[in-house]
Amino acid sequence: MNRKPSGVAILGATGSIGLNALDVIGRFPDRFRVTALCAGKNVRSLLALAEKFRPSVLCLCEPVAPSRLKGLPSRTRVVFGEEGMHEAVAAKGTDIVLAAASGVSSIRPVIAAAGAGKRIALANKELLVMAGKFLVEASRLGGGELLPVDSEHSAIFQAIEGHRREDIKRILLTASGGPFRTWTVARMRTATVADALGHPTWRMGAKITIDSATLMNKGLEMIEAAWLFGLPPSRIDVVVHPQSVVHSMVEYRDGGVIAQLGPADMRIPIGYALSWPGRLPLDGPGIANHLQGAWTFGKPDMRRFPALALAYTAAEAGGTAPAVLNAANEMAVEAFLAGRIRFTDIARIVARTIETTRCGSRSDTLQAVLDADAAAREETGCILSRIRIPRG
Ligand code: NDP
Ligand code: MG
Repeated sequence: MNRKPSGVAILGATGSIGLNALDVIGRFPDRFRVTALCAGKNVRSLLALAEKFRPSVLCLCEPVAPSRLKGLPSRTRVVFGEEGMHEAVAAKGTDIVLAAASGVSSIRPVIAAAGAGKRIALANKELLVMAGKFLVEASRLGGGELLPVDSEHSAIFQAIEGHRREDIKRILLTASGGPFRTWTVARMRTATVADALGHPTWRMGAKITIDSATLMNKGLEMIEAAWLFGLPPSRIDVVVHPQSVVHSMVEYRDGGVIAQLGPADMRIPIGYALSWPGRLPLDGPGIANHLQGAWTFGKPDMRRFPALALAYTAAEAGGTAPAVLNAANEMAVEAFLAGRIRFTDIARIVARTIETTRCGSRSDTLQAVLDADAAAREETGCILSRIRIPRG
């Protein structure tokens, strides 16, 4: 059957998810067509992608001099900032928006795209953590789909398809445990940026790799799962599974458990979010290499990994608490990557920000949530300014 290729706008095109998505899209030109590409400041990489994929819109987070845009394809328009991102997600022929920019600056354009009925292939979990209520609601009202790209959530989505929500007992969210799974707290205090960036199973952008080392990533994913699948945090349990073969499981009330498995390759969940309900012939190696060794499962240690406990507390509190958690974490991770704080300071700073941020308890508008995000960033900034830079 001949059908029109789906138009895809990619936010975060130059990042780890964006490039994996473009690898998939590039292999199926009869299925997908790139309509817009957005990045932060990496003009050169974005231009190289534009040359290859010929989108009608290119977006950068801030204006650049025309002299830096040499080589721009003649039919490609360049736009900037949040307004530009709105134009990008609305580019002619866009059916799917891949939300894979880091941070939360894409929240309004992604909500607008969801409200306009476009499929949102969501990698950017921070958007759901901060403003899940508004994104889920916009997608419902718009009549499009909100499909997970995060591997665990893609697994849960696949394990839930065809089942009744009321039959679900709980979700078992798997975690690799990160590079410090077996480290003591004392040793983690001395962890370097290079240590924390050495993820054992997945290759990803820097921020999410640090989040995987603190287990904050799993905390954010728990909140992401709560929004995507409509379950309370108390019914989402984290299971440490260092081999990263089982991507998550769903336990049903009859005692049966459905898991989804696969190699640690983000092109699989990205491809599924783009092609759902069909599957692309990606023809990867499958799990052949994993069939010999043992697969293990254990409980996370919340004492050594307090970030996970903080995420549960924020999720139970609801309202603007997850937005505060997310904002504080983003700034603390940035400070750690810049060598300004120790690895173990990340969770301490998030906890302190949650305790001291003064923001209204209202979370009934997107603006109230954005205000809480701004208040938390200000508070984290103050806390960071009082911290002594660690030596050696
Ligand atoms: P990267 O750091 O590799 O890439 C981030 C992307 O966002 C880059 O294209 C970057 O552009 C762009 N960007 C940065 N700032 C802005 C801005 N202000 N406006 C618009 N775009 C911006 O991140 P990842 O690809 O690893 O992760 C992206 C998202 O996907 C995150 O939310 C992460 O949690 C999520 N995710 C990632 C997974 C992975 O395997 N990597 C797995 C599951 C979820 P530039 O190059 O110009 O800086
Ligand atoms: Mg994940």
